Order: sequence, then C-alpha cells, then structure tokens
Amino acid sequence: MPERAEAGPPPPADAAAATRPRPVPPDAAAMPPSAPDASTGPTSSALSSPPPRPPGSMADLDPTNDLVTGPPDPIPDCEARLEAAGVRSDPASLPVRRRPNGDVCGVEQAVTYREGPTGIRWSPHPVASCGLALALARLEAVAQEEAERFLGSRITRIEQGGTTACRRIARFPGMMSEHSFANGIDVRSFKLADGRTVTVQRWFGPTDEEPATPEGRFLRSLAHRLYDEDVFSVVLTAFWDRLHDDHFHLDLARYRVDGTR
Ligand SMILES: [Zn+2]
Repeated sequence: MPERAEAGPPPPADAAAATRPRPVPPDAAAMPPSAPDASTGPTSSALSSPPPRPPGSMADLDPTNDLVTGPPDPIPDCEARLEAAGVRSDPASLPVRRRPNGDVCGVEQAVTYREGPTGIRWSPHPVASCGLALALARLEAVAQEEAERFLGSRITRIEQGGTTACRRIARFPGMMSEHSFANGIDVRSFKLADGRTVTVQRWFGPTDEEPATPEGRFLRSLAHRLYDEDVFSVVLTAFWDRLHDDHFHLDLARYRVDGTR
C-alpha cells in the first residue's frame, strides 16, 4: 500500500560520529578490571542486569548501535514467542533485497498478524517483522487498559495505514524508513465496543493545550505509555510534526525518538 511521505527521527547530532569508534557503554568503562568489594557496593551482576520489562516491550535500549540502520536482527524462537504472546500469525514473505541504488529492504521472519491477545481486529492485517508483531501484542494490552480507564469501553478494531514501504525517510534521506523492514506501523483509529471511533486526526487535539476530551486523554496517555514503557523505540505524533496529525507512527528502530510530548 502506498503511503505518504513522513518525517522520521532526527539525524545523528554529528554526522562525523558515524566514522568514529563506537562509544564504550558507561557501565563497562567505569568497571574496574577486578570485581568490587562486595561489602562496599553492588556486585557486577547487579550493575549489569537490566530491570525486567514486560514481554512485548521491544524498544532497542542499546545506545551503542544507534547509527545502525537495516533489517532487524532475527529473534530466536520467534514462533514460540509469538504463540506465548497470544498472537495468531501466518508466515509472510518479504525477502531482504538490495536495490541497484544500494537501498536494502525486507526482513527475515516476516509474519502476517492475524489476531492478538485481546481479540482486536486489525484492518488491514499488518505484515510485520517478528519484533513488531510482539510489540503489537503489547500495544493491544496497553491500549485496552487505557480505553477502559478513559473511555469505559474496550477496543474492537484498529485501523492502520501500512507497515511496509521500501523507502528512505522523507526529511532524512540518508536513512531508510523502518517501514522498509516491516518494522514500523502507522495507527490511525480505534473502534470501541460501544460504537465510538477514536481517530487520531479528530481527537488528538492541539499540541499546545492539555487534551479537553476523554478521547484526547486516551490518545495522549496511550502514546506516552508506548514510549515510556519501551513498547516501541520510536513514537511519533502531532508533537513531532504536522505529518503525524492523523496517525501515530510506531517503530522498532535501533535509536530512540520520543515524539509524544
Ligand atoms: Zn510511519
């Protein structure tokens, strides 16, 4: 499905950084060669263990790979993880290919997301990387919580505007869009069991004001949680630019962008 050009993440702050050695993670740099005295501080394993996060929170938290763009790495046990997340899916074919101009598109482990853990009907069914499919399952759970909290109803259907398009990011033509790897999705509206439809375009509201409606509060809170709880690496809304006033762009790039506030 053709999709409108959209803005993406900011380019690296310093383009020359791409050619420098990658920074060493601060934790590793600060660690002495021998283990610290257990009586005076936390053990090395306590320092290196990240806090647990819910399955399906798929954001890439590694700051050392932010300049890497390309198809996502395969996920071990993809099928088993999808099944454990309550996702019913079919294999899809989106082979990794290099175009004559050097652009690489496609992904291993592409799936068609048929149904997730809360029974939301996705329209159309997303073609997704394994990671995106896992994140969509988490999105369902978070969105249902927020819909019940702000709107007193459950979500029955989500309209999405596309996951796949082999292209560069319109505003940052040096970078490939995550849509090139079925690793991003544009979410446009939520239909509720009580018959209401919450479109991003109508209900997100002006970004210089607090949302005035329950629908607006639902959309703002959902966007915040999808970023803050690391469900996606990148969450872009109307706060990012006007190209996102009618949909949320959500993706699993290796860098982070909070476009929700
Ligand atoms: Zn998008």
